[in-house]
Amino acid sequence: MTTRPPIAMLAELTHRCPLACPYCSNPVDLARQESELDTDAWRDVFRQAADLGVLQLHLSGGEPATRRDLEELVQAARDAGLYTNLITSGIGLTERRLRALDNAGLDHIQLSLQGTTPEMADEIGGYAGGYRRKMMVAEWIGQIGFPLTLNAVLHRRNLHQLPRALEMAVEMGARRIEVATVQFHGWALKNRDALMPTRAQAEEATRIVTEARARLKGTLVIDYVPADYHSDYPKRCMGGWGSTGLNVAPDGTVLPCHAAQTIPHLRFDNLRDKPLSEIWYKGTAFNAYRGTGWMPEPCASCDRKEVDFGGCRCQSMALAGDAAATDPVCVKSPHHSDLQSRAAAHATAADAPLIYRSVPGRATEPAE
Ligand code: SF4
Ligand code: SF4
Repeated sequence: MTTRPPIAMLAELTHRCPLACPYCSNPVDLARQESELDTDAWRDVFRQAADLGVLQLHLSGGEPATRRDLEELVQAARDAGLYTNLITSGIGLTERRLRALDNAGLDHIQLSLQGTTPEMADEIGGYAGGYRRKMMVAEWIGQIGFPLTLNAVLHRRNLHQLPRALEMAVEMGARRIEVATVQFHGWALKNRDALMPTRAQAEEATRIVTEARARLKGTLVIDYVPADYHSDYPKRCMGGWGSTGLNVAPDGTVLPCHAAQTIPHLRFDNLRDKPLSEIWYKGTAFNAYRGTGWMPEPCASCDRKEVDFGGCRCQSMALAGDAAATDPVCVKSPHHSDLQSRAAAHATAADAPLIYRSVPGRATEPAE
């Protein structure tokens, strides 16, 4: 199999974030600020990424606005010729900073939405006043004219707000909304009793998205991540392991996906030790599940194997205890019926208290 260069890189600039979402995809063992790559190191990473063939850079976190050098980093990415997308909760962005980011060449913003009311959003984000602040940021984004994607993360507690989230995307002038049902990795795995949607909610969400896609055609693009515990086939995770994208953690560790460190036998390379190109093409972690040659049955002889690449390795690890197993979301997995029973049990559990993502890095206000 020929390995092609990656198209997209997600740079987790920091794990610090003022919010504390109970479904945060950051690792449960968060990277400390002292271990973060500095400005010059990220500059070098962006140049290496562009040389490798990366076209799109997603600047993420944690909350990337907690990095005081965010504007410099955007400028460095632009200088390297990368298309830049900022993935943010909005907290920590001021109008002045947004204008500075515009001047630095930021191409696109993806704004997360924890709920469509202050009560819901602030409860889920664990940050009082966050919703009000986010709405101000959305207004500045519109005034400056950044292309905007709204990223609504939905679960049992807020799925009823999906119609309003779609309306808000249109009102904000967003070109796209990502309707993402919570994926149970990282902190979300600890919160399944609180967040697992019911099957009826999952089906209603699919109906609403289907109807809205037809109604809003030409106005709003709707990307949809359905509730996979209630699905029959897994999603094509990361477009296929080591296929089109890579993540760089705050300390320079290079990962095939954000949750890959939950697979205990894999060893991950760090940009402080090796060039990005060598890690992408020769790294043992990237080659572990690349392509289809590693697949056991039933994936090996399945006609969908190049459609979904066997699903998510991290989910197989978490739920089947084997990263090479068929994703338990798949109807052909021997773990599928168990997964569906567990999904039903989580979805009907009495509302459990939310376990919030915890420090380090709670609330460091960025420079004005
Ligand atoms: S706590 Fe929430 S806003 Fe912060 S990085 Fe995690 S998911 Fe994003
Ligand atoms: S058996 Fe494997 S390749 Fe086939 S649909 Fe299921 S996960 Fe996908």
